[in-house]
Amino acid sequence: MPTAPLIRLREHISGEVVLPEDPTYPALKDAFVHEGQPAAVVRCATPEDVREALRCAKEMGLPVAVRSGGHGGAGLSTNHGGMVIDLRLMAEVQLLDPERRLVRLGSGATWAEVSRVLGEHDLAISSGDTTTVGVGGLLLGGGIGWLARRFGLAMDSLVAAELVTADGAIVRVSADDDPELFWALRGGGGNFGVVTAFELTAHRLPGVSFGKISYERSEAATVLKGWRDHLRTAPDELTSFVYLYPTFGGDPMPLFIAVCYAGDDPAAAERAVAPLLALGSVLEQDVAPRPYLEVLEDPGPLPPGLIPLVKNRFASQLSDELIDILVTETDRRETLYVELRSLGGAVAAVDPAATAFACRDSEALVTTVLLSNDPGPQQEFEAMWSQIGDLTSPIGYGNLLSTATPADVAAVYPPATYHRLAAVKARLDPENVFRGNHNVAPASG
Ligand SMILES: Cc1cc2nc3c(=O)[nH]c(=O)nc-3n(C[C@H](O)[C@H](O)[C@H](O)COP(=O)(O)OP(=O)(O)OC[C@H]3O[C@@H](n4cnc5c(N)ncnc54)[C@H](O)[C@@H]3O)c2cc1C
Repeated sequence: MPTAPLIRLREHISGEVVLPEDPTYPALKDAFVHEGQPAAVVRCATPEDVREALRCAKEMGLPVAVRSGGHGGAGLSTNHGGMVIDLRLMAEVQLLDPERRLVRLGSGATWAEVSRVLGEHDLAISSGDTTTVGVGGLLLGGGIGWLARRFGLAMDSLVAAELVTADGAIVRVSADDDPELFWALRGGGGNFGVVTAFELTAHRLPGVSFGKISYERSEAATVLKGWRDHLRTAPDELTSFVYLYPTFGGDPMPLFIAVCYAGDDPAAAERAVAPLLALGSVLEQDVAPRPYLEVLEDPGPLPPGLIPLVKNRFASQLSDELIDILVTETDRRETLYVELRSLGGAVAAVDPAATAFACRDSEALVTTVLLSNDPGPQQEFEAMWSQIGDLTSPIGYGNLLSTATPADVAAVYPPATYHRLAAVKARLDPENVFRGNHNVAPASG
């Protein structure tokens, strides 16, 4: 491929243009689990760099992939033969205004860094559960984590975003400046431009009480029903996830429930968690006060070549039938992992029309992960979903999907949301430059 425009780009930007022959290319070409072979990785250091990169990609006809933390499950922050716009040099975490707790985050920052810096000021922003996930991808899709029931989705604290649009304009978007685009950015993913920085309101949070409780696996169904019932009346400070781990052919792992009480009163945390400790035979538990940063975990290594198949759906109610099937299936399937995330609280308190995120009134998010690339288990995985599909919403959470097929897109955006997004897309990106995502096609006419 002729690389003259890329060589010229190298001279015009303050970041770096990394080509396949460069020594740093092997460390930059891939996403978290997906391998890529892009024609160039452009490490942008400023919005102007992004604008120049987009201009170059257009001149060369290169498809564009946008990368913040690189953890997107569908692997769309790399590609083959295109340009990766890598934002990890734009990783500032700044407390702009301590009085108003106004924070500026570069898209390429990680949530570990955000939590570390804000923790020094007894502040936090609702994030996910993992240190290395990037600010950009998580925020544009929603952000469901340990502080969800207390402070909402990560994007619910968003005040403004700076982005570079397909035509190279550098704009600031907020509730006052292009409210329709501000709506679309909160849940519509990377469809509308390259977001280079976000402004958010952080929350006062000197610490949390966090820990994991393990139970006899044989009691999983009973414990899970009790967990669900408890969360229906638990204080909003309490967010909780359930882990049903795969057996990998060995003995079943215990059932784990992780809890995060987002408040600095350990006695109140104990009161909120106590009913969970009475749900079954507790094997171990380590719930204790901690800084929020300590709650985030590093992702474990995956076996080389394994691309997990991840599918999720919201559940307005976790029925007994759904719980029974999930427990039975994880007992029977060696490579199936199931995770339930409690919702409600502050997630449900936001007006559903305020953002492009669907199913705010759900009780939980049901995520299933198949840790096998073999066809047999994949067929069983699909068969399980045909069983539980009627017990969940048809709508899922795009950030925790490993594919981006048209069916996935339909599952992420209910029809009314999709049509509204498509109108914004037609205005901002009529040529669909930003299509490496759960893609919303520009509305025609
Ligand atoms: C180990 C692991 C743990 C996770 N835990 C959670 C969790 O607890 N809660 C949760 O809600 N999600 C979680 N996720 C899902 C996560 O939110 C998404 O994968 C998210 O897209 C990752 O963001 P990223 O910036 O790291 O990814 P990237 O791969 O860099 O980006 C993903 C996609 O988002 C778009 N994009 C990213 N940045 C920008 C930008 N600045 N401008 C425009 N478009 C952009 C692009 O389309 C890109 O392909 C987890 C994922 C992993 C792998």
